[in-house]
Amino acid sequence: MSLGNLYIISAPSGAGKSSLINALLADLPRSEVQLSISHTTRKPRPAEEEGVHYYFTNHDEFKSLIAKDHFLEWAEVFGNYYGTSLPMIERSLENGIDVFLDIDWQGARQIREKVSAVKTIFILPPSKAELEKRLIGRGQDSAETIAKRMAEAVSEMSHYNEFDYVIVNDDFQQALAELKSILIAERLKKGAQAERYQHLISQLLSE
Ligand code: GDP
Ligand code: ADP
Ligand code: 5GP
Repeated sequence: MSLGNLYIISAPSGAGKSSLINALLADLPRSEVQLSISHTTRKPRPAEEEGVHYYFTNHDEFKSLIAKDHFLEWAEVFGNYYGTSLPMIERSLENGIDVFLDIDWQGARQIREKVSAVKTIFILPPSKAELEKRLIGRGQDSAETIAKRMAEAVSEMSHYNEFDYVIVNDDFQQALAELKSILIAERLKKGAQAERYQHLISQLLSE
């Protein structure tokens, strides 16, 4: 059984990263692709559920998880702590399942240092005006939070060139097709194919 690929997908808040990941997951079986669920100290948004969108926690609990080495990476984003828990990811990758991490560029940097095979994808919005429109249209954050996220957007986007792939999320269906094509191309890399088609290849190459 070949190992799953680990993917990181990052974007300024509102670029459409969650929508793209959800559409991708809805199209593929859980035995092929999973989303890692992070821990956060941020308060749940109205539509968010414990264990589905995040594991919601408090500062003290988060600190004790850091001390127990529970996180592959963690970062402070917009004044809250966010972290990726290691055990679930390891289990999925060992079972050949691709795992997506929806994390910021700081987390991406930490993971790149630990997991050299990680594949990283950055999502850009088609314009700043459209980014603000999407944040407002999402209807989940206060005006103050939106202003804070818009102010952070430029510095976040300046990290796009640390990533392997860049997708501009203008037309949603096109961006989704581009995201899928990354997964498909990665699965076709010769190392993975050689393992997957071991028997076929040995038959084809036998005299
Ligand atoms: P809801 O089902 O519309 O309430 O939204 P969810 O976010 O719970 O799920 C959306 C879709 O994604 C559903 O088809 C889920 O089965 C699928 N889904 C959720 N989590 C995962 C996962 O980790 N891996 C995969 N492959 N699909 C998932
Ligand atoms: P993120 O996870 O990057 O913060 P979301 O996926 O929550 O962003 O998207 C922000 C808002 O923009 C949502 O309301 C979503 O429906 C909308 N959106 C995402 N992609 C597009 C697109 N290509 N065109 C128009 N609206 C979009
Ligand atoms: P939101 O509050 O909109 O759900 O997420 C805010 C930001 O935190 C996003 O940029 C998201 O990518 C990032 N984030 C979410 N989970 C994690 C995590 O586990 N680790 C890190 N480093 N960033 C995360």
